[in-house]
Amino acid sequence: MANVLWLQGGACSGNTMSFLNAEEPSACDLVSDFGINVLWHPSLGMEMGDNLQKLLRDCVSGAIPLDIFVFEGTVVNAPNGTGTWNRFAGRPMKDWVQELTGAAQFVVALGDCATWGGIPATAPNPSDSKGLQFLKKQHGGFLGAGFKSKAGLPVVNIPGCPAHPDWVTQVLVAVATGRAGELELDDLQRPKTFFKSFTQTGCTRNMHFAYKVSATEFGQRKGCLFYDLGCRGPMTHSPCNRVLWNRQSSKTRAGMPCLGCTEPEFPFFDLAPGSVFKTQTMMGVPKDMPEGVDKSAYIKLTAAAKSASPAWAEKDIFVV
Ligand code: SF4
Ligand code: SF4
Repeated sequence: MANVLWLQGGACSGNTMSFLNAEEPSACDLVSDFGINVLWHPSLGMEMGDNLQKLLRDCVSGAIPLDIFVFEGTVVNAPNGTGTWNRFAGRPMKDWVQELTGAAQFVVALGDCATWGGIPATAPNPSDSKGLQFLKKQHGGFLGAGFKSKAGLPVVNIPGCPAHPDWVTQVLVAVATGRAGELELDDLQRPKTFFKSFTQTGCTRNMHFAYKVSATEFGQRKGCLFYDLGCRGPMTHSPCNRVLWNRQSSKTRAGMPCLGCTEPEFPFFDLAPGSVFKTQTMMGVPKDMPEGVDKSAYIKLTAAAKSASPAWAEKDIFVV
């Protein structure tokens, strides 16, 4: 049995919505089959007022053992470092976060806001938001770079806007079934099992990428979205084309570019007009290259690929 406490800071509830749509296992399966005991969750918890404050205090004191603390949303520090713009259960949420992270065996930051600060922390960051252990790419965040939970792990970062339900349910199950030791984390503290490969891995448009055949409109049933529509699939670490959404599709399969939502720099280019859904180029060459590819090699490769492109690559890729 693993006690899970889930709180939300500066959040839109998107990760909760995603989690509640989990299927294999579902949120109910986690309770009935995998030994998860949800102490409290903003959409599921029954306690209110004094009862909730007592439950939280008991978690802090250790009267209730806190196995996993899941935090969704940013840690809001405004105004002037007080955090009072985000009060919860009688005090600034940031004060609960400070104490509960110190009491938990494992701490999970869920979604971009909790991991890196996400959209709220984009300049000028009026809510003085931080992720739990990062602010964008900078290690530290609210808890500091040296933070380790009681079990000796740093914050486990599960980014995404929102995160896929499987990414969080499988991490919760691993911890609840005593397999937390198998959680290998990358440099950004993301579980490698999900975040080692790229969004592009498994994309149905890889042949179009290779032949430099471009999609020019959303939803087009041919072409790769990298060359014109700003797809960040080749430089974004996510399993979106391996662990499909709703078990059947992904953004790029549906003809929408990957926006790189699992990376700390998301949203890219500070959402400047004309920078979203559009490939940023310099002299016709994309500013952001697929990871590990240098610009001169890219120019040679794409020139050869385009001239070798077969006629079928321009056709609709769907057969029904
Ligand atoms: S659509 Fe995106 S993920 Fe798919 S092949 Fe093109 S660049 Fe890669
Ligand atoms: S396809 Fe890209 S933007 Fe969409 S969820 Fe996956 S990583 Fe995020």
